[in-house]
Amino acid sequence: MVVPCYKEEAVLPETSKRLKEKLHALMEAGKISADSRVLFVNDGSSDRTWEIIASLHEEDKIFSGVNLSRNRGHQNALLAGLTTAATRADMIISMDADLQDDVNAIDGMIDAYHEGYDVVYGVRSARKTDTAFKRMTAEGFYKLMRAMGVDIVFNHADYRLMSRRAVEGLLEFGEVNIFLRGIVPQIGYPSTTVEYERAKRFAGESKYPFKKMLGFALDGITSFSVKPLRLIVFLGAIVFLLSLLMLVWSLIERIMGTVVSGWTSLMFSVWMLGGLQLLSLGVLGEYVGKIYSEVKHRPRFIIERVLDEDPN
Ligand code: UDP
Ligand code: MG
Repeated sequence: MVVPCYKEEAVLPETSKRLKEKLHALMEAGKISADSRVLFVNDGSSDRTWEIIASLHEEDKIFSGVNLSRNRGHQNALLAGLTTAATRADMIISMDADLQDDVNAIDGMIDAYHEGYDVVYGVRSARKTDTAFKRMTAEGFYKLMRAMGVDIVFNHADYRLMSRRAVEGLLEFGEVNIFLRGIVPQIGYPSTTVEYERAKRFAGESKYPFKKMLGFALDGITSFSVKPLRLIVFLGAIVFLLSLLMLVWSLIERIMGTVVSGWTSLMFSVWMLGGLQLLSLGVLGEYVGKIYSEVKHRPRFIIERVLDEDPN
């Protein structure tokens, strides 16, 4: 299990206790290896988070930890954990530290893994415990992402199980602005969802204030979609067409003699220039978009299997 932690001293004792119980139960049921671990990633916390992780590791080797040099944000912390775990695990579940994600959903995820799924998304069935504001902004975010053409699982945060090969596929994505929720569906491989009810944060405050949430949403859209750039092209084309209509109309007004001199050329220039400028910006944007997708150097494919004599 990979658990990113940023200033989570208030919840870690409880989180570690519940995860340990869960893992032991799963080990006894023979569903997971007896060597399973919980890997806490300390994302540059200024409180006692790392000390707690270190002492948990002292007490019980089921807990291990990764300490980042400074705060790099939730997504990067998660990626650091996945990278560390990828060489040590057959399956990895990522979960927030604050116990908002129901640990009992893990059973279903692991069953799905044994049925052959590589990615199992934890999906919130309800948002009853979230404030109306959080619910509205969060659901609006998923809808906006969809409208922008980003393939994203509705009401799924970063609570998910990934098989080793899925994580290895994920690590092929070399981009710096990492938005895991958008990338994981792009890896491919069989995937399914498991529903759970999202609880209230066990203790402490949300580490995603509105400003961070907004930044996260903007990052998500601009890392996956060049649609905003394309919108400029459409806008430019519309204004340019309007400018042609304006030309006809202002000429008619001119011939009728109802306007002062200079109005016709002025009106026309304003519209025409506005339209041409937007259009040119949009064309530039199209090229910038192309460059953008090239520099990301994303893998163009991930091979699922090669058929040859040696099955490994
Ligand atoms: N987190 C992190 N780095 C950050 C912010 C958050 O590792 O800069 C972790 C945090 O410790 C938690 C998870 O990301 O485990 C989700 O954060 P939080 O629960 O505060 O977000 P919310 O559920 O309110 O959206
Ligand atoms: Mg939370």
